[in-house]
Amino acid sequence: MTTSSKDTGFEFQPYYGICTFGRAPHTRDLAGAEVAIVGVPYDGATSYRSGARFGPRAIREQSMLLWGYNNALGVSPFKTLQVIDYGDVDVVPVDVLATHTAINDEVSQIVQAGVKVIALGGDHSIALPLLRAHARQYGPLAVVHFDAHPDTWDTEFGERKYSHGTPFRRAIEEKLIDTSAYLQIGIRGPTSGKQDYADALALGARMITLDEAMGLGLAGILKEIKDRVQDKPLYITLDIDSIDPAFAPGTGTPEVGGFSSYQMLQLLRGLKGLNFVGGDLVEVSPSFDHSHITSILASNLVFEYLSLLALNKLKAE
Ligand code: MN
Ligand code: MN
Repeated sequence: MTTSSKDTGFEFQPYYGICTFGRAPHTRDLAGAEVAIVGVPYDGATSYRSGARFGPRAIREQSMLLWGYNNALGVSPFKTLQVIDYGDVDVVPVDVLATHTAINDEVSQIVQAGVKVIALGGDHSIALPLLRAHARQYGPLAVVHFDAHPDTWDTEFGERKYSHGTPFRRAIEEKLIDTSAYLQIGIRGPTSGKQDYADALALGARMITLDEAMGLGLAGILKEIKDRVQDKPLYITLDIDSIDPAFAPGTGTPEVGGFSSYQMLQLLRGLKGLNFVGGDLVEVSPSFDHSHITSILASNLVFEYLSLLALNKLKAE
């Protein structure tokens, strides 16, 4: 590591310097690292409008404005943890299987070195190899999945089994997910038929539609999560389309009527204390964004992930 714990980069103005996530050192040297930010600039498994390959770069750029101290959680994640920006996985735009192999290989060796991974997407298909890499280390995972869509379709475009609409069905088939602790939260919008939700439920997901979420309120949603996740190793996967397109327009398949930015910040903060072992934030597509609103939000949500990891470290000390 070339950085000291004091040298977090936030002493610089946001417009200064080269962009890594939170100005963390860009290195692939895992010695001493505790958390690696890993970009996955792949959008070849998108079903509608592509462009999420530019998500990691946009999120990194907007992370310059984070300043460093999380007032809501009372922690400075970049001072508490040795965070590195690992850079991006070398994806293959025209080959989803080769890309998944590259993600699994790269992320597995990071996870096996004892370093936590926060991945920046990229389309949601990347969650499958990310779950493979984590399940190899931790066993079947509790998964909190924020999304407008269940992403548990069997195939898309005929027989294609690997798209951004199928990763969680594949992950359940591969026994990467502990379905007793799998929650899909924020599901909404029209689908091709009743069967889409029924299929997700049949796979064992606890689906909290946006309608149910509004009835439960934030505390009620968090109780549902905690009752199921308990102390199991938790992977969080956050599709930015779980948030209303008024707050997050820069995404491939927007669905109206979602969570506000504030509600999502509060939901993540509410996961404080859970055994959070890794996560991703996917589907940020900057070419559909306005005034960077979506990538600003995404960088703040990743900051909440880092804050949760920092609190867990402090609790363990
Ligand atoms: Mn979605
Ligand atoms: Mn999704």
